[in-house]
Amino acid sequence: MFNRKDTCMLKQKKRLILFVSMLLTVGFLLTSLFSYFVSIASLRYQLTAGELPLTGDNIYSEIQRDLLPPILISSLMASDTFLYDWAKGGEKDQRAIVRYLTEIKLKYGAVTAFFVSENTRKYYHPSGVAKQVRPQDERDDWYFRVRELKQDYEINVDIDENNQDNLTVFINYRVLDYDGIFIGVVGIGLAVEKVKERILAYQKQFGRSIIFMDSKGEVMLNSDLQAEAKDRSSTLFELIKSESFLNKINAVDSISLEYELDNYPVFFNVRYIEEFDWYLVVIQSELEGQDKLTRALVLNLLFCAVVVAVVLLITNRTLSLYQLDIEEMATTDKLTGLYNRQAFDMLFDSLVLDLKRVPDELSLLLLDIDHFKKINDSHGHLAGDAVLVHIAGLIKSRLRETDIKCRWGGEEFMVLLKGCDLKTAMNMAEELRLGILNHPLLLDGKNLAVTVSVGVTVFQQKDNRDEIIRRADRALYTAKSNGRNQVVAF
Ligand code: GH3
Ligand code: MG
Ligand code: MG
Repeated sequence: MFNRKDTCMLKQKKRLILFVSMLLTVGFLLTSLFSYFVSIASLRYQLTAGELPLTGDNIYSEIQRDLLPPILISSLMASDTFLYDWAKGGEKDQRAIVRYLTEIKLKYGAVTAFFVSENTRKYYHPSGVAKQVRPQDERDDWYFRVRELKQDYEINVDIDENNQDNLTVFINYRVLDYDGIFIGVVGIGLAVEKVKERILAYQKQFGRSIIFMDSKGEVMLNSDLQAEAKDRSSTLFELIKSESFLNKINAVDSISLEYELDNYPVFFNVRYIEEFDWYLVVIQSELEGQDKLTRALVLNLLFCAVVVAVVLLITNRTLSLYQLDIEEMATTDKLTGLYNRQAFDMLFDSLVLDLKRVPDELSLLLLDIDHFKKINDSHGHLAGDAVLVHIAGLIKSRLRETDIKCRWGGEEFMVLLKGCDLKTAMNMAEELRLGILNHPLLLDGKNLAVTVSVGVTVFQQKDNRDEIIRRADRALYTAKSNGRNQVVAF
């Protein structure tokens, strides 16, 4: 019935709901995404600043620990009087030195033990004399390097000619005689396999790939790459050989780097291993825990969506209830529960419009309580109110549900009888009058007789609201002038 206002309220309701849902959605999205990205950043920091460098440190310290005993053994060999005397004595009994080297090799579980004499340039090892070292031979460069060395020893990773060219870690110790004169190089060789085993163990434990490379980016040693790294191994090897990568790692002892390979982030920690002149590269191709965070984000967002939906549902319901309440308050007379004048006017107008389109009977009763002022004066206003409620109740109970009943003014009521001609309307008004007359209000144990006068009229096609009301008013006035408690039709 209140179409224009209804649409307006509906629009406002829609706007409010849209605003609330946008506010909630944006709020939830922002907080969820913010916490997600903060967590990712902290994971990344943990990995690049903590875990990867730590893995590198651990491997490095294990390598250093592994190298200590062979260095010690080589140093003992370098100060062994047997070796001095044997070399000084002209390297006569070759079996003696072979026995000595075999003994050392077996005792300490080395892959080889060796002595190169400065005097004869012969290379002795557990199986005999291998060859003579020569400055022209590239493979013998190491000897001439150690010969000029300032320090006591060097660690050199090289292939072992006497052991199927296996990659071996050599401890090359300078031997000086009693007078401090250089008489050769002695030492033992360790299998790189041992280092490799350690790397594998690390790899299994932490799920990271570990590579040793030289300063040119050439991979010297690489344990089996982890599955994801293997997929991208060619790009990975290209990257570590690239100039930009090498420039970055050359400048520092240890560095953490992050690259994007085939659209996946790859995290590196590179540290320089002085003893080998190699770089130890620890690689992780995914951010561990990111899956969990992503799953948590999705769950979070789903939960937020549910919360938004529930809040919207509740808001919608509450608004609808309030709307109904407000509508009722705006259209109903508080005391009697009948329509108020404002609602009546609107209903009446729309009825008149309908009747102009589709002609039908419509009668109007204007009902006024007789001498109501006296009731108020002698019994008080509360009693007056009780009379109004009583009369309204009688009107409601005696008329049809579809009839429009309204409290028009103080003690005046207006009734619209749809589909009702003048005669029927007069009969109904008479019935109502008699009903009121015969049903006095019981007040403080006494019957309070109340009468009403009624003006009746019927809608004519040329009528508008004011005209028909004016006619009903005149009819009522006549009823009052004729002595009240009666029905008059105009
Ligand atoms: P008549 O028979 O000519 O209609 O006389 P009347 O006294 O009924 O008419 P009048 O217009 O002189 O007085 C109406 C009174 O109704 C005056 C006013 O104080 C009282 N009135 C109006 N609204 C209310 C109400 O809500 N409660 C009560 N108790 N009295 C009301
Ligand atoms: Mg009156
Ligand atoms: Mg009156």
